[in-house]
Amino acid sequence: IMTLAIETSCDETSCAVLKNGREVFSNVISSQIEIHRKFGGVVPEVASRKHIESMNSIIQQALDEANITFKDIDIVGVTRGPGLVGALLVGISSAKAIAYALDVPLVGVNHIEGHICANYITHKDLEPPFTCLVVSGGHTYLVQANSYTDYELVGRTRDDAAGEAFDKVARSLGLPYPGGPLIDKLSLEGNSQAINFPRPCLEEDSYDFSFSGLKTAVLNYLNHAKQMGEEIAIEDVAASFQAAATEVLVEKTIRLAIERKSKTIVVAGGVAANKGLRNMFLERGNKEGIDIKYPSTILCTDNAAMIGSAAYFNYMGGYISNFDLNVEPNLELGFK
Ligand code: ATP
Ligand code: MG
Ligand code: FE
Repeated sequence: IMTLAIETSCDETSCAVLKNGREVFSNVISSQIEIHRKFGGVVPEVASRKHIESMNSIIQQALDEANITFKDIDIVGVTRGPGLVGALLVGISSAKAIAYALDVPLVGVNHIEGHICANYITHKDLEPPFTCLVVSGGHTYLVQANSYTDYELVGRTRDDAAGEAFDKVARSLGLPYPGGPLIDKLSLEGNSQAINFPRPCLEEDSYDFSFSGLKTAVLNYLNHAKQMGEEIAIEDVAASFQAAATEVLVEKTIRLAIERKSKTIVVAGGVAANKGLRNMFLERGNKEGIDIKYPSTILCTDNAAMIGSAAYFNYMGGYISNFDLNVEPNLELGFK
């Protein structure tokens, strides 16, 4: 099955061609980060307009790089949510037009399912069931993957997403958007035990997370230090924050994996690229005899290949969309 996939949920315009959900022939990603950086975050209306401008040429580029034409496409997959409504509409409209013109099935995909499916591309032998932690810019989910199409939501953040917390802390340290990767880099030079930031919800029985208290603790620390005229070592702040955030994420995921007797933990979303998170997971996984998997770095953040993988597995599971498919900006995991 040859899949053409389109992703426009946020600020990446992306189109990919895949065979059977795991083999990527092309994955063209056009990022708008430079455009949004001067605003300190994504401006929805600007994002929609840029998607419209780039869409056609990105699709053509994906076909060219895969060395195929529209005639070779068997199904069209597209992100239907969650995401920015105007941005999603550009992708959905394009996907509908192509599927209709080619007379092939249209498969609307949950973007978060896509982040998880990025792992099927990187790890050719990966099969459900497994325990999964999704840590992206807008979501923090603890998930039990029961099949290729059944993702059971077990825990979530009560306030900020993990990536959002990284970006907000980075901003308070004077770093540009998106700050997650910069915190990661700075942490390598800092002492993670310099400041004892809180580990929210760690001792709690629930599988939920909370990051706004941790973010506030970092802000309070910075304000206090400034008032006292103390020198601030931003590497130490970055490393100490990262260690606190990471510890809660890792411990709760390990706890769920043990409860569900999972032999594999899969990490997904932009923050899955974080080196501190990966190292702590590998260390803890090693101790518990649990295999840890995460996508190759380029597949961690938004891209259409992961959407193509999710579209393929949904198509195989019989989930095909009608042409009245609409965007779902607040689509939850577990809903198609
Ligand atoms: P969602 O998928 O929830 O709609 P999104 O698509 O915007 O959100 P992703 O593209 O999955 O999110 O990830 C972007 C986030 O990942 C940003 O918050 C970014 O700072 C963070 N991020 C990327 N690389 C790293 C890293 N190495 N360390 C920490 N955070 C990172
Ligand atoms: Mg993005
Ligand atoms: Fe995303």
